[in-house]
Amino acid sequence: MNAPIILAIEDEVPILRFLRLVLAAPAYKLIEAQSGKEGLAMAGSHNPDLILLDLGLPDWDGLQVLAQLREWNRAPVIVVSARGQETDKVTALDSGADDYLTKPFNTGELQARVRVCLRRNLRANNEHADPVFITDGLKVDLERRQVFVDGVEVHLTPIEYKLLGEMIRHAGKVLTHHHLLKAVWGPTHEDESHYLRIFVGQLRKKLESDTARPRYLLTETGVGYRLKSD
Ligand code: CA
Repeated sequence: MNAPIILAIEDEVPILRFLRLVLAAPAYKLIEAQSGKEGLAMAGSHNPDLILLDLGLPDWDGLQVLAQLREWNRAPVIVVSARGQETDKVTALDSGADDYLTKPFNTGELQARVRVCLRRNLRANNEHADPVFITDGLKVDLERRQVFVDGVEVHLTPIEYKLLGEMIRHAGKVLTHHHLLKAVWGPTHEDESHYLRIFVGQLRKKLESDTARPRYLLTETGVGYRLKSD
């Protein structure tokens, strides 16, 4: 198999140097663009498998680049933002980004995000999704709609199951509050964050052995939730 092509649209030289080190051959083929304009051109000419997009670029706002990219390109995008750009991060996720990294990030975080994104994309391109989802002790049979924790069946309400199902469909990916509210309760409830808090709380009580330190339903502070994926 050919090494996945990763396009970094990033203008900071130290970060680029770090990316070259971590996303090196033979595992990956890293290509670089230092402006939004160049990045879009390279996305078109090189057809990357994954894009790392800095939100603070010298020519365009990263969000503009993302919007233009999403008009014709479906490659997974991980946005890279500076600390304190929480709102931009959420906007990016709601505009089609797949994940985010906050500077400064370390080798482990970068590798994990890249791996999960590439694997999910591969799975999304396979028509037949696995009917059984397993991560650690959590097992969900999507055909029979049965949920097991450490081998013991857990009964969920229809809403709880819908919420968990949406997270399983995007396992490993951070989902914004907006995304989850819209997917489970519909577009008229997009702003009812308290619904989500209540139902995530209920799900955790049923699935987690320690709700203060969840293993499966992870909180992404200020952004949303992520279901752990192996
Ligand atoms: Ca920058």
